[in-house]
Formats: sequence, C-alpha cells, structure tokens
Amino acid sequence: MDLKSGYPFWAVKNGLMSAFPAVKADLKCDVVVIGGGITGALIADELITSGFATVVVEQRDIGWGSTSASTALLQYEIDTHLLDLVKWYGEENGVMAYQGCSDAINALAELVSEVGDVDFARQQSLYFASQPEDENTLHNEFKLRHKHGFKADWLAANAVRERYGLLSSGAILTHHAARIDPYRMTYRLLERLVTRGGQVFDRTTIEAITTHENGVTLRTEEGVKISCQYVVLAAGYASQKWLQQKVAKNLSTYAFITDPMDADTLGALTTTMMWESARPYLYFRCTGEGRLLVGGEDDDIDIPTKRDARVEKKCQKLINRIADIFPNFELKPTFSWAGTFAETADGLPFFGPHEQHGPRVLFAMAYGGNGITYSMIGAKLLREQIQGRQHKLAQLFSFERLS
Ligand SMILES: Cc1cc2nc3c(=O)[nH]c(=O)nc-3n(C[C@H](O)[C@H](O)[C@H](O)COP(=O)(O)OP(=O)(O)OC[C@H]3O[C@@H](n4cnc5c(N)ncnc54)[C@H](O)[C@@H]3O)c2cc1C
Repeated sequence: MDLKSGYPFWAVKNGLMSAFPAVKADLKCDVVVIGGGITGALIADELITSGFATVVVEQRDIGWGSTSASTALLQYEIDTHLLDLVKWYGEENGVMAYQGCSDAINALAELVSEVGDVDFARQQSLYFASQPEDENTLHNEFKLRHKHGFKADWLAANAVRERYGLLSSGAILTHHAARIDPYRMTYRLLERLVTRGGQVFDRTTIEAITTHENGVTLRTEEGVKISCQYVVLAAGYASQKWLQQKVAKNLSTYAFITDPMDADTLGALTTTMMWESARPYLYFRCTGEGRLLVGGEDDDIDIPTKRDARVEKKCQKLINRIADIFPNFELKPTFSWAGTFAETADGLPFFGPHEQHGPRVLFAMAYGGNGITYSMIGAKLLREQIQGRQHKLAQLFSFERLS
C-alpha cells in the first residue's frame, strides 16, 4: 500500500536515524508488533516496560509509513465533537473518550522526558468557527467541555481578532495540547526497545498470520516463522487488509511546511496551534525551528496516483487559505506532500481483537485526526488486554460498537 506522495518533512529532515536488520531465522517471543510506525513504537515500548519479550517487524524502513507524513498536532479535542459522542454513546462514554485523549498527552509528555529530543512542546489549541453559522455549535461544545472540567476559554469575535488577528465569530481556546516530531519519536522509542532487550526488524513483511489455541505463528515473505503468544497489528492504514469487515474509509490529505520564520512574524502561532470548524478542516502549527506546518484539503477517496498528481495544486490552495487569514505572511513552502488518512464513521479508533482472528490477534487502528493520541491510549489498552485486564476504554474502542 502506497501511503504517501511528495517529500514528507520528517523523513527528509531526520533521514534514516538507525539501521535495523531484516529477520533471517525463525524466532520466538511473547508479542510481535507488526508495523514500525508511531503506533507500533508506542505499543512495543509499553509492552517491554511491562516485561514482555517484544519483537517489532516493519516491511519498509522504520517510520516510513504515515508516521513520516503526519503533521503531529497532539490534541484531546478529537474530530468528533464531545456533543456528538455524548449523543451517540452517552455522557459517561463521551467524556471518557475525551479524558482518555487528555491523559494521553500527559503520558506522551512523560515518555518524551525519558527519550528526549523529539521537538515536543506543550501548546494551546484554538478551534475557530469557519462561518458564523458554526458559532452556536462551538459555543455549546465549549459549555459541555467546561461542564466536564476540560480547561478551555470561549473567545468571542473581538478577542479572536485582537489576540490572533483572525476573523472568526468565535473560538474555543484549549490550554492542553502539544506538538511532536513523530518520526523521531518512533526511532527514539525503538532504539530504546533494543537496549532493553527487544528486537526490531525492518525490510520484513508479514505475509500470513495463523492462530492456534496456545499462540500465533507468523510467516514472513521469505518464509521465516515467528512464534508468539499475541500479535499486535499496528499496520496503520494497511490493517484493513487483514479484515473482511470494512471498518474505515481511506482519504487523501495534504500538507506543506515553510522555511523557519522569525518569532515576531509568527506571533501567537509560536504557542498556539489552530484548526477550524469546517470539514474537511484547515489546520496549522509551528515547529520548534519556527517553520509553519499547514494541512488540510482532504480528498474524499484515496487514489495514490491522483494524490501524487495533486500535491502541488493542493499545496497552492492551502497557501491561499493561509494568505487569506494572515495576509502579512510571505509563505514559501519548502516541502509539500500528501498521505493516506483513514477515518471511522464516528471518529473513534479500534483497539483489540476482532472475531475473524480470535483473541490473540489485537488490532491497533488509531484512525482519525488524533491518531497519535489514540496510539498512546491504545498502547496502555492493549498491554492491559494482554495482561488479562480491562482498560476503561476497551469496550468503547472495540469492534463491538459496530454491531
Ligand atoms: C498528512 C497527515 C497528517 C496527520 N496529522 C495528524 C495530526 O496532526 N495529529 C495526529 O495525532 N495524527 C495525525 N495524522 C495521523 C497519524 O499520522 C497516524 O495516526 C499515525 O502516523 C499512524 O501511525 P501508525 O504507526 O499506525 O501507521 P504507519 O506510520 O503507517 O505505520 C504502520 C507501518 O506498518 C507497516 N506494515 C504494514 N503492513 C505490514 C506487514 N504486513 N508487515 C510488516 N509491516 C507492515 C507499514 O510499512 C508502516 O510503516 C496525520 C496523518 C497524515 C497522513
């Protein structure tokens, strides 16, 4: 599956940070994680910390899937409003999902403090009304979040204009968000895994998964067998290939990044990431070097050849949108790219077993705009599942909600 087009910035900036071998001989372990992206790395880290002999297997190079294309805004406010989650799944579940994402940002911050140097920074997040008609919904969303203790302010049109130079009829300013270099974080976690006795193999494709009563056997493209107790399928947007049931829809999404800009020009953007109420939404944030990273312009379907051809045109549309908002910016994109992106119908991820494969094959489908925060939740959720315990979000994030 071709996951990206153009030049994803993180891979260009960081290059191949470490070399890992391909698997050559049969081996045994407790858990195999299929997929060396940010999801696989976070899960493998959680497993090895809990004492499981863990092996990560990646068909490309580490971090070379969607992780290298990610714009990596870390937010607890997910693409689906709390208002909608409460309507569909009840107040307790909706709040639990939002709280889980909020906790995940803190858990990521803690991990970063251990591995270091991944361009992580705490940020604020401004969610602004794209059109006056959206103001009421956003205000109701703010009130519901406020009621449940999520730290945020409501900014009326004047305040949005004064503080951010943005024309909008209202916005939610959230105080709990962050940014990260997801590619670097993936390498840091997997390098640490190896120092803790785990194994990482790249250029190794898993072709078959066979479950039996006491374990699972995996076969690589070269015919090497890996035996384990559990498999975690953290294969990103390719995970759907292992399921007959369609659980998500693939889209294409676009992004570009500028050269570093000075702090005076960037103003509030140095501390505040922004996104809007329209769907698909425009979003933007700064990197630690002062580069502006902008994303959006999603296509409703993902056809890699069309996506490849559209990168430049979509990038120009993103530039025009930013120029409308911040006419003083001189925007010169240094790199632009596109990536596959998957969405579930309700914006929530899937973590856990599917009846097609039984209890030993655990899916990690961190789908949606908050894929990375979801992956952090999934790491803890799946580790608890393997330990025979039930995480509080296990039921809501399971495939059961599809029935
Ligand atoms: C442009 C863009 C912007 C985004 N912005 C954000 C954002 O702002 N915030 C956020 O939280 N999320 C964002 N996301 C989503 C986020 O990037 C993803 O959730 C995350 O990168 C997915 O990581 P992953 O490890 O699950 O998938 P991947 O990085 O794709 O890793 C899965 C890996 O599995 C490997 N694999 C697949 N099949 C096999 C096999 N059979 N054998 C061996 N290996 C296999 C693949 O090669 C791949 O490397 C964005 C995504 C894109 C594309």
